[in-house]
Amino acid sequence: MKSKSIYSMLAIASLGVCAASNAAGLIPEPNANAVPLATQSNPETLVLDASTAARGFMTSTMSIPVEPGPFTFVYPKWIPGEHGPTGPLADISQLKVSADGKPLAWRRDKVDMYAFHVTVPEGVHTLNVQFTVLMNSPDVMSTPNVGVVNWNRVLFYQNNINYHHYYVKASIILPQGWGYGTALTQESRVGQRVNFKEEPLTYVVDSPLDMGRYYKQVLLWHKGNAHQWLDMFADAPQDLDVPAKLLDAYKNMTPEALALYGSRHWYNYHSLLALSNKIGFQGIEHHQSSDDRAPADFMTNPKWQLTAGDLLTHEFSHSWNGKYRRPWDLATDNYQIPQRTDLLWVYEGMNQYLGDLLSFRAGIRKPSEYPQYLASIYSSMANEPGRKTEPLIDLTTGAPYFYYDSNGQYPSIRRTAGDFYTEGELLWLDVDTIIRTQTHGKKSLDTFLHLYSQPKFTGPITKTYTRADIEKLLNEVVPYDWHAFFQRHVYDVARLPPTGELKRAGWKLVYTAKSNPFIAAREQMFGMNYQWLSYGFNVGKNGALLDVREGSPAWQAGMAPGMKLESVDGQRYSPAVLKYVMGQAEHDHQPTSFIVAKDGWFHTLEVSYFGGPRYPHLVRIPGTANLLAKIMAPHAKH
Ligand SMILES: [Zn+2]
Repeated sequence: MKSKSIYSMLAIASLGVCAASNAAGLIPEPNANAVPLATQSNPETLVLDASTAARGFMTSTMSIPVEPGPFTFVYPKWIPGEHGPTGPLADISQLKVSADGKPLAWRRDKVDMYAFHVTVPEGVHTLNVQFTVLMNSPDVMSTPNVGVVNWNRVLFYQNNINYHHYYVKASIILPQGWGYGTALTQESRVGQRVNFKEEPLTYVVDSPLDMGRYYKQVLLWHKGNAHQWLDMFADAPQDLDVPAKLLDAYKNMTPEALALYGSRHWYNYHSLLALSNKIGFQGIEHHQSSDDRAPADFMTNPKWQLTAGDLLTHEFSHSWNGKYRRPWDLATDNYQIPQRTDLLWVYEGMNQYLGDLLSFRAGIRKPSEYPQYLASIYSSMANEPGRKTEPLIDLTTGAPYFYYDSNGQYPSIRRTAGDFYTEGELLWLDVDTIIRTQTHGKKSLDTFLHLYSQPKFTGPITKTYTRADIEKLLNEVVPYDWHAFFQRHVYDVARLPPTGELKRAGWKLVYTAKSNPFIAAREQMFGMNYQWLSYGFNVGKNGALLDVREGSPAWQAGMAPGMKLESVDGQRYSPAVLKYVMGQAEHDHQPTSFIVAKDGWFHTLEVSYFGGPRYPHLVRIPGTANLLAKIMAPHAKH
């Protein structure tokens, strides 16, 4: 008990230090109460020299309006769309501060590492701040031919201001011969230097920029002064050879979204798409653009469109749901104020459904494929052991700090942020089918979305909502105990995902030996072997167990993630060998013998599984209407 009492004393001592620091005003709570010194007529200027982006760095030079005396500038911490304190501090190097041409000492805050303190000399009203932006440290944001610029990664701003009233005038110097795409308005251009119009800080950060040597910019849709662009930047020119038929489907994005929401809250929208095998898979929503990053052959290999064809539609839908309509506690006034993410089950959960729905309605994927997709996501949520103890609301609430990190072992027990997306889709499909059934087909979730996103047109502004607002609006569409519905599926531990939608849509879930096309495509794309519903494990490329389902035959035998399958019944492991052995076991009911390796140790484990291959499918309930076909069919008038 000795160590414990020493620990208590240390804790008390450090509490004392904190109190003293607070009293001295060194670490006040982040707020938006300061008077912004960077105004529309005297904005902060930012010149980003990106000419060296292919070498993995850029130089950012800022002139920040200040007043003499103590001054604090900050680096954006809580990043919208990333839903967490993910501002990449490690990107900052070679920080230099000067005033009137003379170097000025700076000091990082001891508690808030995103804050930097200086003392501005008498008579000085502009601070020059420069730093080198490391682009691939560790997130990969540049390659020899493509660069992704997120403005929050390349700037500092005055502490405690409201970012709607703090102005930034940004410029970029592009690498020789590279093009760019962004929702920012170009004011002038001299050679490789592009100057953008001054905008509120929130709008600058909300308007990322893609640049690259090989690019194609396609006008997908326009009406009057409003345009939607697809701006593609690729590592290699051949990755831009998008089949005309696929581009035609992408051209349906805006008409289908307008039919879905009945409104528009953007003027010109840019779907920015970086096609590279070096830059990781990502999609970040913005009000008038999206920052999409996908593998090099994303637009040329149909398998990608089948498995991830909702990437652009998901982010596009966020312009309405997430950017225009946003949870009240997620809408903050600067990037240092913590975001509360509990209502992501609406923001992301509903959007997962709508992004998929738009991809099917637009024809990026075939509506007839949706039932098998639904079977795959339903079975994945229904067979996740972690749901027995972990309600969805804890996943959304804890998202910023760890649920987005899907690395680590036993994700199926711990659950991940992916679950409130996937289960969110089932939840909102359930809502959709309830509305359709209760109103005998007269109304749908589309009706709700028209109300949710009204009026018909605004610029890119934000209107917040609470859980009660959502339930009230749904009640306007159709009276129902929506509060109890969300309580059951989101706020309480739910033993099963929402299930009623399957039957209401005219379908039934069955498990058969035939592979599910979405699971098969994912197995092929990621080199994995899906045996979650048979033995109870998923196997990676080199035989490594990715996860083991609690209670499954593999679990009973003592298998664990991190083990490597060396052999199956004496033969070296391969998906084909496992398939053969599974067939034999189904016939002769003998346990399968695996040799597994972990950390230099080998073990023989006997797994008693005799059920053969097992995959989820949806089959039609005879004599019922096929509601899924109706929901996923094109809705826009062409
Ligand atoms: Zn999203």
